[in-house]
Amino acid sequence: MGKWEDGCWVWKLNWRRELMERERAAVDDFLQFITNFVPSAGSLDSWSWSGGKDGRYSTKEAYEVIRETRNEATDQLPLKEVLSKVWGMAVPHKAMVLAWRLLRNRLPTCDNLRRRNILVGETECCCNACILNLETANHIFLHCPKTEKVWDGIFQWMGICFIRPHCVVSHFTQFVQLGRGKRAEKLLEALWSCTCWLIWKWRNESRWEGKNWDIKDAIMEVKARIWSWNKIFNYFESELNFSSWMSCNLSVWLL
Ligand SMILES: [Zn+2]
Repeated sequence: MGKWEDGCWVWKLNWRRELMERERAAVDDFLQFITNFVPSAGSLDSWSWSGGKDGRYSTKEAYEVIRETRNEATDQLPLKEVLSKVWGMAVPHKAMVLAWRLLRNRLPTCDNLRRRNILVGETECCCNACILNLETANHIFLHCPKTEKVWDGIFQWMGICFIRPHCVVSHFTQFVQLGRGKRAEKLLEALWSCTCWLIWKWRNESRWEGKNWDIKDAIMEVKARIWSWNKIFNYFESELNFSSWMSCNLSVWLL
């Protein structure tokens, strides 16, 4: 962690594994963040909340800190670049269009319809899957308990732990960088857009046809689609047959 050298504190951080390229920038930021902090020798460690004035945690201050961080993050996202990336994805046109509409928040989700006075009642604006929340794009695609389980299954398949960002744009930009190299990026773009396209399809089937979708089947459907898209777009070369593919770990093609 660090030690005192001639009266000065020197940080010495040891990482358990070699850092990946995408992690280096975060490490630089972190080092910069802790450089100005000097521990005091001879006193006991204690917890202190730095989001307020008196060092004591309050939910209100925590809310403000998160809100500001999110606004900053959203403002800094190069949406134009993200959208141009979408048009370059190697995926079927229908998935590309859905991704573009989703990232621009142009899907007819209940909150968007409500804004145009098309849907106004509380009940009809609820998410059809959990019946708990207002149906927004961020909710349906990321935070609905049912959708979260689908993403959990996808990350398990990828062998990756991922802290889900709040909004779909950040989710997309971070997700497609979870592998190494251009080819892995193409595969991740396909996986992201395929999952989102299917989530929207299941949502529509549930809302308009009353169909109930199953999480396990949903994850299998994502895997099967990627298998068939790979035949067209060649994200990776594989000798695996379909049943081996369905039980394999995707990390092999991401590293
Ligand atoms: Zn929901």
